[in-house]
Amino acid sequence: REPLLRVEGLKMHFPIYRGVFRRRAGEVRAVDDLSFEITAGETLGLVGESGCGKSTTGRAILRLYEPTAGSIRLEGREIATLEGGALRAIRPEMQMIFQDPQASLNPRMTVGSIIAEPLDEHGRLSRSARRARVMALMDAVGLNRSFVNRYPHEFSGGQRQRIGIARALALNPKFIVCDEPIAALDVSIQAQVVNLLEDLQDRLGLTYLFISHDLSMVRHIADRVAVMYLGRLAEIGPTQALFARPLHPYTEALISAVPSPDPDAEAGRKRIILKGDVPSPAKPPAGCVFHTRCPKVFDRCRKEVPQLLDKGDGRRVACHLHDDSVVHVREDVAEPG
Ligand code: SF4
Ligand code: MG
Repeated sequence: REPLLRVEGLKMHFPIYRGVFRRRAGEVRAVDDLSFEITAGETLGLVGESGCGKSTTGRAILRLYEPTAGSIRLEGREIATLEGGALRAIRPEMQMIFQDPQASLNPRMTVGSIIAEPLDEHGRLSRSARRARVMALMDAVGLNRSFVNRYPHEFSGGQRQRIGIARALALNPKFIVCDEPIAALDVSIQAQVVNLLEDLQDRLGLTYLFISHDLSMVRHIADRVAVMYLGRLAEIGPTQALFARPLHPYTEALISAVPSPDPDAEAGRKRIILKGDVPSPAKPPAGCVFHTRCPKVFDRCRKEVPQLLDKGDGRRVACHLHDDSVVHVREDVAEPG
């Protein structure tokens, strides 16, 4: 069956300019050769440290950017190369929920006109149909209808995020990129917003790309998880299996930092501290981009880019350690004399 979304070889490279004459001085590889799929109705979590290309990936898929290379197919239709009217025509099918509802809502517009904005841009509804749709959307996200003429500053952070969600739902999208949708909210409000997103998914059959650096939250909400490092996919797989047995050394390190709800597991938890900083995406290391920080690095990692290997059960990993076609000699193990 055709997945809802199929991304193949996606690249987002941004030129860097320097000096008074703005000479081109290289490029930032924000997203480099990314491939994955999202099935209709599922939530794919996208995790990784800040700057790894998660948000750029989300925006490229929604075609807020023009990809440098690669294919993005929405229900089989190529959208990576769409322009003008054809691009505008698919916009209603894909929407975004932003991290900071404060920044993404126009302070001079009422809640009603914020929610109706996409309706006004993408069609002509009668006054009464428009009003009925706004009310239905406010109901759907748990906002009191009597707030329709109020302004964003009159609401709490959680309520503002509900306004953002209502606006994202206005055109009945199939696919929503949730970019750190709860990161700016109080911890006490986060669960409410996550529950709302899950509830809406079930009721409306939505498909989510859920971008977050909060692995506990991703573990809760995602059916599958994709791990990014320096613009590349390190690993992707079903949530349970990936958390229980991470394949990529980077995933292992990320998960080791997440406190366990189970006291026994928490007592035995060994944190893996990665050395050094994430290298600049303008100067990605040769070979495996993770090799400068990987606790398991060996000779081949410095020369050869690891390809995404299929490990069965829906799991894929980009790491030479998992390449069964080659016998590795680990550097930290003495050779028999
Ligand atoms: Fe580490 Fe090598 Fe695997 Fe990269 S390919 S994650 S450096 S072991
Ligand atoms: Mg779900």
